[in-house]
Amino acid sequence: MRVIVQKFGGTSVATADGRRKVAEKVKEALEQGYQVVVVVSAMGRNNDPYATDTLIGLARGVNKQVKPRELDLLMSCGENISTVVIVQILESLNIKASAYTGGQAGIITDNHFNNARILEIKPDNLWKCIRERRVAVVAGFQGVTADGDITTLGRGGSDTTATALGVALKAELIDIFTDVEGVMTADPRLVPQAKSLTTMTYNELCEMAHLGAKVVHPRAVEIAMEGRVPLRIRSTFSDSMGTLITDGISIGEIEIKGDKIVTGLAHMAEMALVIIGSHEDLNANGRVLEIFQMMADAGISVDMIHVTPFEIGFIIKEDLMEQAKEILQQLPLEIKIDKSYAKVAIVGTGMRGIPGVMARMAKSLQAEQIPIFHSADSHTNIACLVRQSDMVKALRSLHQQFDLG
Ligand code: ADP
Ligand code: ASP
Ligand code: MG
Repeated sequence: MRVIVQKFGGTSVATADGRRKVAEKVKEALEQGYQVVVVVSAMGRNNDPYATDTLIGLARGVNKQVKPRELDLLMSCGENISTVVIVQILESLNIKASAYTGGQAGIITDNHFNNARILEIKPDNLWKCIRERRVAVVAGFQGVTADGDITTLGRGGSDTTATALGVALKAELIDIFTDVEGVMTADPRLVPQAKSLTTMTYNELCEMAHLGAKVVHPRAVEIAMEGRVPLRIRSTFSDSMGTLITDGISIGEIEIKGDKIVTGLAHMAEMALVIIGSHEDLNANGRVLEIFQMMADAGISVDMIHVTPFEIGFIIKEDLMEQAKEILQQLPLEIKIDKSYAKVAIVGTGMRGIPGVMARMAKSLQAEQIPIFHSADSHTNIACLVRQSDMVKALRSLHQQFDLG
């Protein structure tokens, strides 16, 4: 049995025209002989009536401290609404279909509300639906705990639903349909020269997603990579084949090129830089552990970490700045926290061991007189912290420097 999972994001299901295109994509896959499992996001963005942000606003408008469990119950409604609407459209075209919540699709998660992890998938209901030759339309972004509580998988988590189901159902292919042609060399909203990539490896996309490229959820890519199911990122609104992501081997006629030195750029805006200074050795007096333990206990994720005997630096999300400040000010150390920074990164899993990559990055930023406030690297990326106001200029300059256009 050839199963395909097709996931449609918020903009794809937002309008009647988009939903008609969704139905066309499902029809095409059925005509190609696939058994289709559809995963849908909530309709639209921001102020659209059933969008996730709108639902969050509804509860937070009453109580800013709405409990994560209740917030999940509310957020999950957006995706549930989409499933029922899409089923009606498919049935109006004589395509038999049934709607499922994440729980009904057998997605069991831990109870880490708002950012739950899938523990197990029991796809019995989906198999029954598939065997009866109906299209299963599953609500993305949600699961259920062993106790029956509804959870969500983190913002953008419908992608994770799609790849997890793709692996569980041993799908031939997972198609993530969105509002861009595929994975691009940078966010096209910020870099107009960005171009769509035809192929890339799981590693490359995983790095880009972790570094902030919002086109797909990083966990979704990890799951597809672990399950070795080919993934495509495509547009709902065109016939283009999008970006095919695999482990770098050939699939049929298509040869997947290996990892490149720089495949693309990623960015993360609204970051705060924390610098902690001391005249005493921070290693010797145990402060290194103390500081990072304090952040861990508060659930504050730290990034771009640098530790030297007399200085510790890292970045955090800007909205956690006040919380971090309150905690760190208890220490008899010089604490400096500033916001309005952005992380810009070059990503390429082929850059390992290649000399001169940072020199090119520094040259590009210097040419635009963009100061670097912090940096970090791995064997597959180099990230620099710049002023938020310089972010777009930095991305455009790096895009040109690394010939990505
Ligand atoms: P969906 O609602 O379909 O899940 P998202 O908004 O989550 O869509 O993701 C698509 C958006 O990701 C695009 O509109 C684009 O602005 C943004 N994006 C950021 N980086 C990239 C990139 N490297 N390639 C393509 N799109 C990107
Ligand atoms: N609707 C959810 C969100 O906005 C999940 C998703 O779209 O993937 O984060
Ligand atoms: Mg998304």
